[in-house]
Amino acid sequence: MFKALQLHQDEAGQTLAQIVELNNDHLPEGNVTVDVQYSSLNYKDGLAITGTGKIIRDFPMVPGIDFVGTVSDSEDPRYQVGDQVVLTGWGVGERHWGGMSQRARVKGDWLVPLPAGLTPEQTMAIGTAGLTAMLCVQALENAGVKPEQGPILVTGASGGVGSVAVTLLAKAGFEVHAITGREDNAEWLQSLGAHTVLPRSQFEGQSRPLDKAIWAGAVDTVGGDILAKVLSQMAYDGAVAACGLAASFSLPTTVMPFILRGVKLLGVDSVMCPYERRMAAWERLSADLGDEQFDAFSTVAHLDQVPELAQQIIKGQVRGRVLIKP
Ligand code: NDP
Repeated sequence: MFKALQLHQDEAGQTLAQIVELNNDHLPEGNVTVDVQYSSLNYKDGLAITGTGKIIRDFPMVPGIDFVGTVSDSEDPRYQVGDQVVLTGWGVGERHWGGMSQRARVKGDWLVPLPAGLTPEQTMAIGTAGLTAMLCVQALENAGVKPEQGPILVTGASGGVGSVAVTLLAKAGFEVHAITGREDNAEWLQSLGAHTVLPRSQFEGQSRPLDKAIWAGAVDTVGGDILAKVLSQMAYDGAVAACGLAASFSLPTTVMPFILRGVKLLGVDSVMCPYERRMAAWERLSADLGDEQFDAFSTVAHLDQVPELAQQIIKGQVRGRVLIKP
């Protein structure tokens, strides 16, 4: 028997979360079974667990879009019993039972080996959000953005993706400017490497097609008016890596930044990201992050705290990364 957080839907369409005891016969199809050490709390988990977004179609569902753990059974020749593995994305925790459980069964194709140089705890302190932050950094670098070209902006900086992005960009030598709606996090963001902390209010509301050109690059986790404003302030040849919609999925912009300043808008997805790109991102995360940085941006919680934390993350009240120890 093992414990899992399970989501149900009542007759009124409300999503209910409860901790249940399951056995291996309850697990979904898959060729690798994993004893989960940690999952983590991501924005999408918040949407799923609170029922805010239509993330889950089939109930009951075990949430948790990522996990790290040890293989306890495998029919996949790439993974043996005792191997430590990581899962992020692939619809796990959305369409397939996820990581907020002491045990999970998934397809071997969705796994990667535990990255060399990282502990299981550090790997989930990074989790989907941190992996996405690195994919954004690499997208900017691949687009030719370099520290000497000017300052870099990060939106939603106190969140999971944002806080890891601030840390990684500072480590890569960029002058990082962090936008937050929670100015009491300013000192913490500076401790992660932010050069300046800017109030979110400066970026809200309608923007002009082109504003003063300031930023060589940006990582955007929020979308909406804020992304439109960021685009209007991009310097010539600048690039924005867009990965999130914490404010809105809309983008009320014009073509002006693209056609007059050569600005590039780079979409970043971690869910279906191919194996080689994932591994390259994990290797760089392992190389770039030191022990003290994990302590700075992550905390640990347990399954019974998840429903409350899910409410908090969709209200933008969670700081940094939260590991879930099932
Ligand atoms: P978090 O909730 O941890 O971070 C989001 C941050 O955005 C908040 O902490 C807050 O930062 C800011 N924010 C929240 N609400 C608003 C609002 N209404 N207007 C402006 N800013 C707001 O979430 P994650 O970091 O886990 O995820 C961030 C986004 O990235 C989500 O939309 C998520 O779905 C997406 N994502 C996408 C992935 C991909 O593969 N493309 C993978 C992972 C995440 P502050 O208080 O500092 O302003």
